Amino acid sequence: VPASSLLFRARFVLPISSAPIDGGWVRVRDGRIVEVGAGRPIETHEDLGDVALLPGLVNAHTHLELSFLEGRVPPASAMPAWIQSMIRERLAPRDETAAGAAIERAIASMMASGTVLVGDITNSLAAVGPLRAAGMAGVIFHELTGFAPADPVGQVAAAWKRVDEANPTSSENCCANSVVAHAPYSVAPELFRAIAGARGREPLTVHTGESPEEIAFLRSGGGPFKELIEQIGKWNPDWTAPGCGPIEYLDRCGYLQPGMLAVHGGHLSIDDLARLRGAGGVIVTCPRSNVWVGAGVPDVAEFYRLGLPVAIGTDSLASVDSLNMFDELAAVRRAAPSIAPSKILESATLTGAVALGRGAEFGSLETGKRAELVAVPTASVAADDVEEYLVSGQPHSHLRVVRPR
Ligand SMILES: [Zn+2]
Repeated sequence: VPASSLLFRARFVLPISSAPIDGGWVRVRDGRIVEVGAGRPIETHEDLGDVALLPGLVNAHTHLELSFLEGRVPPASAMPAWIQSMIRERLAPRDETAAGAAIERAIASMMASGTVLVGDITNSLAAVGPLRAAGMAGVIFHELTGFAPADPVGQVAAAWKRVDEANPTSSENCCANSVVAHAPYSVAPELFRAIAGARGREPLTVHTGESPEEIAFLRSGGGPFKELIEQIGKWNPDWTAPGCGPIEYLDRCGYLQPGMLAVHGGHLSIDDLARLRGAGGVIVTCPRSNVWVGAGVPDVAEFYRLGLPVAIGTDSLASVDSLNMFDELAAVRRAAPSIAPSKILESATLTGAVALGRGAEFGSLETGKRAELVAVPTASVAADDVEEYLVSGQPHSHLRVVRPR
C-alpha cells in the first residue's frame, strides 16, 4: 500500500536552496520531502501557523564526550591556559554514570533546539552509544593525538578497528565513521600521513588556525605550546618547525585533501585560507568557543569574502554554555555583520550537510531529502526580516521539530 502524503503549511518556508516563500507548504511522504510550494493548499493539511519552516540545523563541530565539563573550565585569556585547565578537569577522577548522563542530556538539548546532523569529535568513543540510541545522524570523528608516535600506521589501524566496532554503520540513521587528527601542535607529521593514508569515504577534520600561539609554534618551534607538550612529556626532539602557516604545513603532511574540515581558522593568513579553498577544504567556524578560550573573535566575513565554504559548529560544553545552533548563529551574525543572513543560514544547514557528506539527505527543503524540519515561531516578523530574525539570537524556546514518519 503506497503511503499517503502529509502536507505542512507555514507562514514562511525557507528551502535554503532557493529564496524564502512567504506563505508556503511542504509535502512529505515516507519521511521524505516530495514537494515544496507556495500559497495555501486546498487539500487537507496541518497548518503550523505563524512560523518559519526550515531544514534541521547542522552542528559541524562538537565534542559530546566533554559534556560533563559544562561550567567547569572557565573562560581564559589565552588558549594554552584554557587547554591546561581543560586537561586538568578531564583527567580528574569522575563519575562515569554522570558523564554518560551529561552526554545524553547534551544530545537531547541539541535535538530539541533543531539540530539534526552532527560532526562529533571523540577520543574515548563515549558518545557513540548515546548518539546511536538517539538516532542522530552525522559523522563520528575518532580523533588521535601523538606528537612522538611510536607506530603511527598501527595507531591508525587500531583506531579504525575501535570506531568500526563501536559504530557498525549499517543503518542509514547512524553516524558514519572517520579517523582524524587533533591539531598541528599535537600530531606529528608521520601521524598526519598515516591518518590521511588510511582515510575512508568520510572527510578529514582538524583543529587549526585556532590561536596565535599555534601560528607562532609552527613558525618558530617555541612558545607556550612547546612548553605544554614538554609538560605532558610528549615532546619530540626530532621535530623541527616547518616555518610556514598551518594549512601549508598540513599540505606538506599530505593531510590537506578535498573536503577537509578546518575547524576554527580565525588566525589563518589570507594565503593559508586561499590554499584551503584551492584544495577544496571547508572552514568550520565556532566563534563563541574562540572567545571563551581566549583566541578572540574570528573574522568570519573574510571566510565568506574569500569564497570558502563556511560551516558552523558550537564546539563543546567545555568552551560554550549551550549546544544550541541558534545561539551560535547569533554569534556568527555579530562576528560578520556585513554578511547576508541568508548566507549564514546556508552555512548552518546546506554547507554543513555537504561538508559532513550528507548533502543528498539534509540541509535544504528539496525533493528527496529527509523531512527533518524546524518550525520557529515568527510572531510579528515581516517577510523581509525573517532571515535576519532567525540569526538574531532571539528566544527560540518554542521552536518545534517536525519529523513526520
Ligand atoms: Zn573542538
